[in-house]
Amino acid sequence: MLNPEYTTGQLKNILSEENLNHERPFVLAELGRGSPVIAVTTATHGDEELGVKIISDLGKTLHLQRGTLRLIVANPPALMRGVRFITEDLNRGYPGISGKQGEAGIAAHVLELVKDSDFTIDIHTTSAPTEGFVIANERNGKKIEFAEMAGINKILLIPRQKKYAMIDFVNCGIGIELGLHNSQYAYDLGMVAIKNVLGKLGVAGEQISEEDRHEYYKLFGSIVRPSSPIEVLSTCHNFQLIHKGEAIAQVDREDFIKAEEDFYPVFLGEKAYATICLKAKKISREEIGGLSTV
Ligand SMILES: [Zn+2]
Repeated sequence: MLNPEYTTGQLKNILSEENLNHERPFVLAELGRGSPVIAVTTATHGDEELGVKIISDLGKTLHLQRGTLRLIVANPPALMRGVRFITEDLNRGYPGISGKQGEAGIAAHVLELVKDSDFTIDIHTTSAPTEGFVIANERNGKKIEFAEMAGINKILLIPRQKKYAMIDFVNCGIGIELGLHNSQYAYDLGMVAIKNVLGKLGVAGEQISEEDRHEYYKLFGSIVRPSSPIEVLSTCHNFQLIHKGEAIAQVDREDFIKAEEDFYPVFLGEKAYATICLKAKKISREEIGGLSTV
């Protein structure tokens, strides 16, 4: 369900001429003062401009009762070209290298803008349909409690990886995958999630929804995409259990790729990834607590 208002090329309606020409991350708006400081980063991936629309609208309408809200456009060069990145995936290269060209330098600048924030939310959208979910990268209770504030049912825990994301370098950071690029439902979820967090932190207004029931998933693997063209079967959906032996995708209109074990697919069919999907298992909140010392 695409809303034409948010299709690519509308950035000129959102950003000023000056902002359009930024080569570095920049603060689109900063509201309020003092603590807590909450940073929201958008367009980490340049083909995800919906987040910019969301923070632009929030910046115009929100009134803070306390604290600071810093609204950031992370990767303007990629955003203006409508591409995911210029030289490398910005969210795989943190902490970056100050002074370097491309995303390495951009990463270092982003950290300058978020390093003093108490809470950071990194907004993303996807190329394949999925319901929205929150991502927490580290195993500590504080981040899980923060993740729960967004009022989004599904929370995905990502184990420590070789490459670092922005949220690995901030005081308390989560990612939110809102769903399909430029879709109305992703826009609505982004507005609600950020308002929920601000409400729970006592920074602005009241939270919109009280989603106390959460499902927790932990990433444990992936299914690599073969070089031949594949088609994900219409029977498979993100966060819906796939049983061992079940077919997931068809290769070259012939062979089927089948599940080697039970799992919940995440990022199924995501074009930005070299995988058919990532594999997650469902865990309890108690199991997250047990992981906090890892
Ligand atoms: Zn992204």
